[in-house]
Amino acid sequence: MGEPVNITIPDRLLIGGAWVPAASGAAEPVRSPWDGHVVGEVAVAGAPDVQAALAAAERGAIVWRETPAFARMDVLSRAAALVEQRVADIARVLSAENGKTITEARGEVGRAADMIRLAGYEGTQLYGDTLPLDANRGTGRDKLGFTVRQPCGVVVAITPFNYPSLLVLHKVAPALAAGNAVVLKPARTTPLTALLLAQVFLDAGLPDGVLNVLTGPGASLGDALVSDPRVRKISFTGSTATGRRIASLAGVKKLSLELGASCPVVVLPDADIEAAAAAVALGGYVNAGQVCISVQRVITHPRINGDFLDALVPKVAAIRVGDPAAETSQMGTLITAGEAERVHSAIRSATAQGASVLTGGTLDGATVSPAVIAGVDPDSPLAQEELFGPAVAVSTAPDWAAAIAQANGTGYGLGAGIFTSDVSGAVRAVRDIDAGVIHVNWTPLWRADLMPYGGLKASGIGKEGFRSAVEEMTEVKTVILHGRPW
Ligand code: NAP
Repeated sequence: MGEPVNITIPDRLLIGGAWVPAASGAAEPVRSPWDGHVVGEVAVAGAPDVQAALAAAERGAIVWRETPAFARMDVLSRAAALVEQRVADIARVLSAENGKTITEARGEVGRAADMIRLAGYEGTQLYGDTLPLDANRGTGRDKLGFTVRQPCGVVVAITPFNYPSLLVLHKVAPALAAGNAVVLKPARTTPLTALLLAQVFLDAGLPDGVLNVLTGPGASLGDALVSDPRVRKISFTGSTATGRRIASLAGVKKLSLELGASCPVVVLPDADIEAAAAAVALGGYVNAGQVCISVQRVITHPRINGDFLDALVPKVAAIRVGDPAAETSQMGTLITAGEAERVHSAIRSATAQGASVLTGGTLDGATVSPAVIAGVDPDSPLAQEELFGPAVAVSTAPDWAAAIAQANGTGYGLGAGIFTSDVSGAVRAVRDIDAGVIHVNWTPLWRADLMPYGGLKASGIGKEGFRSAVEEMTEVKTVILHGRPW
C-alpha cells in the first residue's frame, strides 16, 4: 500500500465553494486496482447535484468574468505554489487510485505547478485584432473595427482515468485562466486526484462557484451536463465512442474533443535501429500503454525488421512490472482487472490470426506483462482498434507508399512518429502522415504541455496546450465604431 498519505482527501462534491454530500446521500469507495484496498470515498452525484453545480457555475461565471486578468493570474500563481508543496501526497493518492507507478505519478503531478503557471500567463494575453475596414470597398475611414475576447461562461470539463492530474489541469487551468467557471466531472475510477486539485484552487482563493466538481457515473451525469443550455463550452477527453455521444447531444456549443487513437511509428531502412527500438520500448509501455499517444503500431521495412525486433524485445522483456507503490516498479496495473482481461484477449485474438507474441502478454490480476507482437495484419483489430494496453504490434511495409498507407490506415489520427536519418524522408512524412502531432526520430509519446495538441479524424476536434486551449475557451466579439464622415 506504500507510505501513508499526509493529506485530507475531500470526500464530497464541490458545489458553490462548499464541500457537500450528494443530494441522495449516496457515496462509494475508490479502490486500488493493484490490491483492492480502499483509497478514499466519494459522493455519487445525481440529477439534482448537476442542477446545483450548473446554477453555482452560472453565478461563479459572472463573478469571475468581472475579475481582471491580473487578479485571476494571482489566484493561479498561488495555486501553482500550493500544488508544488503537495506533489508527494497527491502523487501517492494518484498512484494508489490509478495503479500507475509512484515514479510515474510523481512525474505527472510534478508538472502541475508549471501547467497552472503557463495557463495563468496565457489568460493575461487575450489580445484582439485591429480591422483594416477601409480596405473593404465602400467603407470609409470614419469607422474603426477591432476584436475583443471574452470567456465562454460555463465550461463543462470531462476527463478520463489515465492521467488524473495532467488531463484535469489541461482543462481546468486554461478555463479558469480565461475567466470561465467550470463544472468538472473526473473519471469514476480516479476522482480523488481531481478533488485534491480542486482543494488547491480553493485554498488559493478562487471565488465560490468558479470551480465545481461532480463525482459519479459519467453516462448519466455526462448526458445531463453536455445537453444543458447553460453550458457554452464542453472540453472532453476520453474514448471516441463517448466523444461521438457528446457531439450528438451537445447542440449549439463550442466543443473540444480529445479522443482515441492507434498511433503508428514508421522505421525506415536508414534509421538508427537501436535508437528507434529504445524509444519504442518507452513509448509503447509508459503508464502500462494507457496513453492516447502510446505507440500501438510499428511499421518497419522488411530489410531491417529482424534487427529492429532483436533490439526491441530484450528491452521490453526487462521492464519490471509490480506493486505501483514500490520504487523499483517500472510498470503498474491497468485501470481495472476487466481492462487487463480485454487487452489480454485482444492479444490472444491476434495470435489466433497468425501473429506471434515475442515477449510478454501474460495476464495476472489487473496487470498484463509488456508485449511485443510481430507479424500483425494491419487490417486486424489489434492494429485498427485502440488497444490502450502494454503491447506493440509490429508489421512490415515494402515501400514508402505502403508504409504511409498503413500509418494512415486506421480511423484515427492523433500522433505518429518516423525514424530516419534522411531529412527528405522526414519532410515527406510530415506532409503525408495524417496525425495531429508528428515526431521525427521519436515516438508519439512525447508532449510539452504548452504545444498545440489534438487529433485529426476520429481522434478529435480542437487543440489543447495552453495558448490553444485559452483561445478555444474564449469567444471573439467584433466591434465597429461608426463615426461621421468628415
Ligand atoms: P471514457 O470511457 O470515454 O470516459 C472518459 C470520461 O467520460 C469519464 O469521466 C467518463 O465517466 C465520462 N463519460 C462516460 N460516459 C459519458 C457520457 N455519456 N457523457 C459524458 N461523459 C461520459 O474514456 P476512458 O476509458 O476513461 O479513457 C480512455 C480513453 O481516453 C481512450 O480512448 C484514450 O485514447 C482517450 N484519451 C484521449 C486523449 C487525447 O488527448 N486524445 C488523452 C487521454 C485519453 P466515468 O468514468 O464515470 O464512466
